Amino acid sequence: FLPHLVASMEQVEETYIMVKPDGVQRGLVGDIISRFEKKGFKLTGLKLFQCPKDLAEEHYKDLNSKPFFPKLIEYITSGPVVCMAWEGAGVVASARKLIGSTDPLQAEPGTIRGDLAVQTGRNVVHGSDSPENGKREIGLWFKEGELCQWTPAQAQWLRE
Ligand code: UDP
Ligand code: MG
Repeated sequence: FLPHLVASMEQVEETYIMVKPDGVQRGLVGDIISRFEKKGFKLTGLKLFQCPKDLAEEHYKDLNSKPFFPKLIEYITSGPVVCMAWEGAGVVASARKLIGSTDPLQAEPGTIRGDLAVQTGRNVVHGSDSPENGKREIGLWFKEGELCQWTPAQAQWLRE
């Protein structure tokens, strides 16, 4: 039993980030990926994907009683999305900060939504809201074999 190993494994957290169809159509994919890359998180999955309706409904199932749900499903399935899995200690909460508030008009400048969007119904990006949902959503959007485990060359320059 190696407590230090267990502790370091517990720090590994993963989040599901997705550039929504408006972000793809508006040519914002590179900018959005770049923000997570430059921050220092590790990309473990990436693909361009046309989301089927049943997957969109499963992904957003907690919202299925909301009045905006049908329009949300229409939006998410309206064109290709970019699916990403990112890994790192604290990545879930940090990614939510980088993304900014759900309503882009309330999102702080410097955040993705604060810089790049004007309306909740076209807020360009998704990020998991908890480590549990990070795991759940990566499991929904990626098949086994689509994720890569690797050690970035810069690892020793990101953490002491
Ligand atoms: N949404 C919407 N109208 C609303 C609230 C949410 O169209 O009044 C959409 C929006 O695209 C949002 C998504 O539903 O990003 C999921 O809502 P949630 O409250 O989980 O916001 P998020 O976690 O994306 O910030
Ligand atoms: Mg959410």
